[in-house]
This record gives sequence, C-alpha cells and structure tokens, in this order.
Amino acid sequence: MQIQITKTQNPSTMPPENELGFGRVFTDHMFIMDYEEGKGWQNARIVPFQNISLHPASTVLHYGAEIFEGLKAYRRADGGVQLFRPMENIRRMNRSAERMSLPLLPEEETLEILKTFVKLEERFVPKSFGTSLYLRPFTFGNDEALGVHAVSRATFMLIASPSGSYYKEGINPVGIMIENEDVRTVRGGTGYAKCGGNYAASTRAGERAAKKGYSQVLWLDGVERKYVEEVGAMNVMFKIGGKIVTPMLTGSILPGITRMSCIAVLKDLGYEVEERLLSVDELLQALKDGSLEEAWGCGTAAVVSPIGRLAFGEEEYVVNGGKIGEVTQKLYDILTGIQWGKEEDKFGWVYKL
Ligand SMILES: *Cc1c(COP(=O)(O)O)cnc(C)c1O
Repeated sequence: MQIQITKTQNPSTMPPENELGFGRVFTDHMFIMDYEEGKGWQNARIVPFQNISLHPASTVLHYGAEIFEGLKAYRRADGGVQLFRPMENIRRMNRSAERMSLPLLPEEETLEILKTFVKLEERFVPKSFGTSLYLRPFTFGNDEALGVHAVSRATFMLIASPSGSYYKEGINPVGIMIENEDVRTVRGGTGYAKCGGNYAASTRAGERAAKKGYSQVLWLDGVERKYVEEVGAMNVMFKIGGKIVTPMLTGSILPGITRMSCIAVLKDLGYEVEERLLSVDELLQALKDGSLEEAWGCGTAAVVSPIGRLAFGEEEYVVNGGKIGEVTQKLYDILTGIQWGKEEDKFGWVYKL
C-alpha cells in the first residue's frame, strides 16, 4: 500500500512524561484512508494532526457505525520500540467490522500502516517504565445520506497519544460494584465487538458506581443477570480455591488480548484455568467462605487491575485483605516485563519496529 506522507510544519514539544495522563496529548500526525464500495480502500495518507469535517448526515453521527481498537507502542529497555501482539488487534478489528457491517481492513497492510506511523512518531514514545504511546485505530461509516443500511463509504484513521503510567502512585486495588440494573450487551448483540455504542451505553452505570465510591461496575449477563461477564471495560479473573476462573466468551464478552495473554502465562506457570460460566451466587459464596483468594481486571490500559472490595447491594466484601494478590502481581510483572522489553519474550508476542 502506497502511503502519501505530508509532514507538519509545526512540530510540537512533548510534555514532561509525568504530566502526560491518558489520551489528552496527541502526536503531530494522523493516518487516514477512505473506503468506497466497489473501489475498496484508497488514498492512504499521513497528514498533520487536525480536525476532520463530516457531512451532517454522515452515518456515524446518526446510527453509530463506529469501531475502534486500542494498543500500545512500548519503549524497550534497550531504547527500541515494540508493539504487543498487534495482529490480534487487527484481526479483532475485522471481527468488529464484520459485526457492524463496516469494511474490513487488509491485515498485512494494516500492520504496515501501524509500523510506518509509529516509526514516524517515534519521538512521542515515552521512555519511563509504564508509559507508552497509545494507538487508537478506528473506522466509521461515512455515507452522506440518512437511509439505514450497510455503509458504502467509510473512513479508517489512526491517531496516537503519548500516555503516562497507569500506576503512577503504585498498584492500588479498586472497589467494584456488582451492577444489577444496566447490562453492557447481550448474547447475539455487539459485546464481542469494540464498537463505540457499547461504551456510550455503559457510561451511566460507571458514573453511578463512582457516586457510591466505586471505581467501576462488575457486569452481569444481559439475559438472566446471573453470570459474571466483565469489569468496566476490562475482562475479569478470579482465583477460587487455587484455580483461576474467568468467564467464557459467550459473545457478549469482549475477547481481550490481555485476557488471552494472561491465560497463556497462567497455564505456563502451572495454574489450572477454567473458562466457564461463573454465577454471581457462586462468586458471593466464594467471598463468604473465603475461597475467593484474588480478583482482578485485565486489559491493555492497566495490564491488570486488582479488585480489593466487591459490593453487592448493601453488602461489601473485602478481597485478599484489600491487597494485590500473588498471582495478580506475578501476571503484572511477567506481562509488563515482556511488553517493555525487560524480559525474554518466550511466547513470541512482541513485534519490534
Ligand atoms: C478493550 C476491552 C477489553 C480489553 O481488551 P484488551 O485487548 O486486553 O485491551 C475488555 N473489555 C472491553 C469491554 C474492552 O473494550
């Protein structure tokens, strides 16, 4: 794929690494290409970072035709830059596209796009451990008409944001509220797709949890409100009676790349991992009888996020004395070790640029 590059005339200065936060600062450029039915993807270009203009009838503005991905470029201990399992993000984006009737991307070319773009923006990959250049590819439907149907025009873009460490103040376990009212998605719905609408619809529950002093909600399934699904926008895992239990991918759960990597690391460490339905009753029972040893969320942003308190209705339970558990810590150390190039990549997960 031929990428036309127009460089900015006004290079910006990178803010100090400890002031980056998440998703507020952007690099100097962005990638963009257009899709038209019958013609495919065309006009691949990197241009200075700027606002985009849309027709007021653009599909994305009315019918939410939008999907995205999230991955990071990491600065290795030896100074180089690498991605973590980027092809998994590209493949997942195509599964999301298929669900939302948006055009699929050519996989190998998309990896080339990521590579070319990150190389161009390499100076924005921060250097301190825990920091990264967050990459946000996204596709949206862009027909200039109000009819509801599969789009014939779409836009793919890639933007990047140098981001600070998720754990600037150390890893502190969070309080989570089991959500009994709203559901994130349903089986047969869009739960397995990273589509914008899922996040708009789940914000309300998160806000309500925050008002009650909890960081996020634990989602239950949308049909019976019985089975545990995810925590906020992360997958969730538990250590119960020595085994690791994580909800199986039923279609309403986002198949996380961190989840998949955690499972591989855990199995490699000799743990038994069960991907199955986990009812909230079983979880509460395990909290009460003390067999619930650890609980954590996992996703690209945090890697792992230990759960220290879990609330159900008026009752609140403490997990592992409110401290990070041994397995959670081990996962964090191993995954971050591989991602930041401090440890040998025995799984073959890193993609060096
Ligand atoms: C992105 C996401 C995850 C985590 O996926 P990773 O590939 O590990 O970053 C989990 N749940 C939801 C709802 C997500 O959007």
